[in-house]
Amino acid sequence: MISDPSTDLPAFGSAQSNGAADYPGLDEWRSKPMSQQPTWEDRDAFEEAMTELSAAPPLVFAGEVDVLRTQLAAAAQGEAFLLQGGDCAETFAGATANKISARVKTILQMAVVLTYGASLPVVKMGRMAGQFAKPRSSDVETRDGVTLPSFRGEIVNGFDFTPESRRHDPRRMVQAYNTSASTLNLVRAFTQGGFADLRSVHAWNQGFMRNPAYSRYEVLAREIDRAVRFMDAAGVDFGALRRTDFFTAHEALLLDYERALTRIDSRSGLPYSTSGHFLWIGERTRDLDGAHVEFLSKVRNPIGVKLGPTTTPEDALALVEKLDPEREPGRLTFITRMGAGTIREKLPPLVEAVRDSDANPLWVTDPMHGNTVTAANGYKTRRFDDVMDEVRGFFEVHRNAGTYPGGLHIEMTGDDVAECLGGADPIDESAFADRYESLVDPRLNHQQSLEMAFLVTEALARPGTLS
Ligand code: PEP
Ligand code: MN
Repeated sequence: MISDPSTDLPAFGSAQSNGAADYPGLDEWRSKPMSQQPTWEDRDAFEEAMTELSAAPPLVFAGEVDVLRTQLAAAAQGEAFLLQGGDCAETFAGATANKISARVKTILQMAVVLTYGASLPVVKMGRMAGQFAKPRSSDVETRDGVTLPSFRGEIVNGFDFTPESRRHDPRRMVQAYNTSASTLNLVRAFTQGGFADLRSVHAWNQGFMRNPAYSRYEVLAREIDRAVRFMDAAGVDFGALRRTDFFTAHEALLLDYERALTRIDSRSGLPYSTSGHFLWIGERTRDLDGAHVEFLSKVRNPIGVKLGPTTTPEDALALVEKLDPEREPGRLTFITRMGAGTIREKLPPLVEAVRDSDANPLWVTDPMHGNTVTAANGYKTRRFDDVMDEVRGFFEVHRNAGTYPGGLHIEMTGDDVAECLGGADPIDESAFADRYESLVDPRLNHQQSLEMAFLVTEALARPGTLS
């Protein structure tokens, strides 16, 4: 992503030629309770991986991270809208040109629709190029009487249910870094090299509209088409719209990995995690006194925190105090994942408490993680209607509180998978056997993702019509 990375190249000083950033407090997390961490048995391999990652080039630049913070500050003010999307868990084998381009394409397509709906710039961000570590509710998994360590994402172990594959292997951290680098390289090429041209993105959306199942979105699609034609006729420089910023994000779960990729920005002398532009803290690791909150409080990247239904207003305010003591615009994003059935009851107290304080975080909805169910045939799934109901609830709560619903965080793919149920061209359980690919949580497929963008746009463009 981003304009001209060359201007940022000297940002991480050569004084740290071995890369190992040092900064007061940067290692304080090591003395805090630390959950969801792997148990690396091979210490030599661990040390080798740390040495290699500490010397590796940054994946993202401090200047880009600062640009993102400014854009998120605009979103927190109601002057932009954030779209975050991608896999629950990326895989090494899934980092192919086809899959990466399909995902980026889908996010760009959604963004065009949302830009029209919100009449605002959409900040585009992938759960990509680093989303390899997964928190698990249990350390072990038992199948047919055999118990092995749980799958924790390919940065830690393999998905195959064998002792060898499930062993925590530190060399995987280096592979995750390399896979992130090649993914990011392609994302930068796509989004800077003309792939993002508004006219082609618009043409792809017209392809989607050819499916009669989506006829209810025709009016909106025609309006967007007219807007694009108008821009063309009015002489808008589409050349300038051929490039777009595209940021990367992942859950900063594996603290050794994040620490090894932290660098000191030579311009400001401050630490940045260079593993991705935006890092978030998961629902299971948002302990105020825990290692994750401590570590992320020390890096300059914009930070997200997932807030589930057990979050109290006091928790939210304490997280603001710890992670954003300066109340810096764009620094903190709250990603709420309450569940469709509870968002209208659980979210208002949090939003109101924060609104009435001096904090101004960006509020984003994750309508996926509170709505996971097990299908009759055993697959982990989510119903499209539940997901949309949580989005609706999110807009309602913010409208009532007078606060700004600033973004969408979803698990999605550009491929034609069958993992979530429903949609106007519905997926049913019988499709899971052939087209369920996710190793962890179910994702919206390409069509469901676009349909969501149309539904959200209806809500943004004409408040009160989201039904
Ligand atoms: C996730 O985003 O994949 C995830 C595990 O979310 P949460 O921490 O909200 O459960
Ligand atoms: Mn997930």
